[in-house]
Amino acid sequence: MTHWVPELLSPAGSLEKLKVAVSYGADAVYLGGQNFGLRSAADNFTETELKEGVEFAHEHGAQVYVVLNSFLYDKELDDLPDFLKILEEVKVDAVIVSDLGVVETVAKKSALEIHLSTQASCLNSAAAQFWKNKGVTRIVLGREVTIEEAKKIKEEVDIELEMFIHGSMCMAYSGNCVISNYTQGRDSNRGGCAHSCRFEYSISNDNSVEDSQKKFAHFMSSKDLMGLRVLQDFIDAGIDSLKVEGRMKSHHYAGTISKVYSEALQYYKENGNLLSEDLYRWEVELEKVSHRDYHLGNLMAPAGKESIFPERQHAVVETKVAAMVLESIEDKYILAEARGPFQAGDTLEYIFFKGKTHSFQLKEIQDATGETFSKARPGMLVRLPYVREAEALNIVRALPSSLGQREAR
Ligand code: SF4
Repeated sequence: MTHWVPELLSPAGSLEKLKVAVSYGADAVYLGGQNFGLRSAADNFTETELKEGVEFAHEHGAQVYVVLNSFLYDKELDDLPDFLKILEEVKVDAVIVSDLGVVETVAKKSALEIHLSTQASCLNSAAAQFWKNKGVTRIVLGREVTIEEAKKIKEEVDIELEMFIHGSMCMAYSGNCVISNYTQGRDSNRGGCAHSCRFEYSISNDNSVEDSQKKFAHFMSSKDLMGLRVLQDFIDAGIDSLKVEGRMKSHHYAGTISKVYSEALQYYKENGNLLSEDLYRWEVELEKVSHRDYHLGNLMAPAGKESIFPERQHAVVETKVAAMVLESIEDKYILAEARGPFQAGDTLEYIFFKGKTHSFQLKEIQDATGETFSKARPGMLVRLPYVREAEALNIVRALPSSLGQREAR
């Protein structure tokens, strides 16, 4: 007997990250096309990449949602139907929308499913019912909603609900924020957020205080969300989709977070509980990606001052991607592309698509032809030690020396 679990929805900031997230277990990915979505600096997909990404995802049983969550002016709205036609042709599974005008246009001009973006700040069942009446099939709830409140919305309105389970948080109301506009000239509601809330600021109502005497602090910088420990609550509430934030983040992030949550969901599917002996390993893995301190955000109760991250950076030394596996040359070696610098003596770690990782100390570095080098540089093709489980798109990370000595085997 298997047990119902929600969908795991991961970010796909590029075609390669889409393949990584799906291969590491994401049930669905969300991405931006060239137009109409926030995150202007992400490697947004061209039409060709979109087609390839959708085909890859569908072949692996995963869905693709395209983000159209900018608030548009009339001129931009005129151009939207042509883009919708392209999305239908490449068979994307849904679009994620914030603007009421965009919702109306998508509903009138296409047969695409509409997911309401968290940017629309839907926090209650009356709003959920309104959006449902407009043709929306799924609501990404505002991040201010607790799981308990989401459960009530689910009971009152027959509509799919999606909630964030992991990633960076916004201290403003689901991104309705203009700090970045005024301090950096970058519009956070049109993809330009400079994460100004993470900076150090001082508050003073006394202009005579000298700069050197002012107290500076990171009082608006939010800790990162991590909902692994309340996965059972999401399942019990019947939340349909669990979303991981982070289209701008690395392959390492896309792969690791997808792997951890998909393994946990798979365990629940098979066992009906989360009492896995892998729980500790999953938590350790979540520590290895770049993040601020973790917090439950608003998932169990409205976040208070304990959700503020007062430091500039997380104290834990993060691991970095060293290479990406291209091919397994049976019984001989693993051909990989270096993505970061590493050298003989470093401890590397294969992250397989499922199960435990495998770490090893690199004795020497050989390029694709077998010639020996002392260092690998990004872009170089290298031969790594053969391991049966390694396959294309596996991430190989470099462990910091303190971790590496302990973990190499
Ligand atoms: S500056 Fe901070 S609070 Fe404002 S939109 Fe960006 S991440 Fe959110």
